[in-house]
Amino acid sequence: MTLITLRQALDGARRGGYGIGAFNVTDVVQAEAVLDAARRTSSPVIVQTIAGASAFASDELYWDLLLRTISHYPDVPVVLHLDHGPDEATCLRAIDAGFSSVMIDGSLDPATHQPASFEANVEVTRRVVEYAHRRGVSVEGELGTIGGSEDGGTHKEIVLADPEQAQAFVEQTDVDALAVAIGTSHGAYKFSSPPDGSVLHMDLISAIKAKVPDTHLVMHGSSSLPADVRAEINAYGGSLPESWGVPEDEKARSTTLGVTKINQGMDSHMAFMAQLRRSLAQDGVTVDPAPGLRAGRAAMRDIVAERMAVFGQAGHAPQFADVPAFDAVRA
Ligand SMILES: [Zn+2]
Repeated sequence: MTLITLRQALDGARRGGYGIGAFNVTDVVQAEAVLDAARRTSSPVIVQTIAGASAFASDELYWDLLLRTISHYPDVPVVLHLDHGPDEATCLRAIDAGFSSVMIDGSLDPATHQPASFEANVEVTRRVVEYAHRRGVSVEGELGTIGGSEDGGTHKEIVLADPEQAQAFVEQTDVDALAVAIGTSHGAYKFSSPPDGSVLHMDLISAIKAKVPDTHLVMHGSSSLPADVRAEINAYGGSLPESWGVPEDEKARSTTLGVTKINQGMDSHMAFMAQLRRSLAQDGVTVDPAPGLRAGRAAMRDIVAERMAVFGQAGHAPQFADVPAFDAVRA
């Protein structure tokens, strides 16, 4: 298997001057779609998942299946990354299960769901980094809070990241990557009009990058929410409100300002669900779920492959041929 760490992947992206998409998967079928897109475009890729977000009753079973699935793609450099680990215990569980990278999201107090203090964020992040780095695993932290909803549950207010705090945070935690709140928002509903400079603070990326040149910056909530895909969902029984996401050209521009990891969950979920809904609506007699899921997988593969071209990672898989595999660097 060609599992690599987030640090290895993003160092490669920085050398090559491109970004790597991190695509959320909640099912093995979705993981196959992302890996097929990576193989088709010869891309390094980050497969990420949120604990408890799959339909499996057990994270451990699902995570094990993800690792098995990745092992079928020996030609694709893959990071398996835990997205938005809510606490230390969840991150340690993912590390023990074989993830090559985890995110500890210490930006929210798990008890009150209010923004955590800087000190509390540093403390939990530092503990996860200590455990992870001893095992060769990379860590992403979060500074400021990114708005919207990760899982349809907790809604966060946007608190923009501060460049001075970013420097102190990195010095005190030694994170490999930092999610920076620059105005993007999670979920399938983001902005009520096309976002301009008063919404997306792209200038903050450069300011933060100047303070933490060795740390990789991560843009969360970066889906575009394509209007044609939303229209298809709504044509087949959906009721998604009109909404604007992050334009493709802004994502491409972010990679020139210092972003190397671009998180995108919603666009591929939307593409998957649009075709699943279409399949269900057009075929009223088939009760086997496979044809609908197959249609969803193909649509997800295609939109992910398109994004890989935009982010610049397409064609760069061979660059990782000599990178030591995670199995070798893992302590
Ligand atoms: Zn996020």
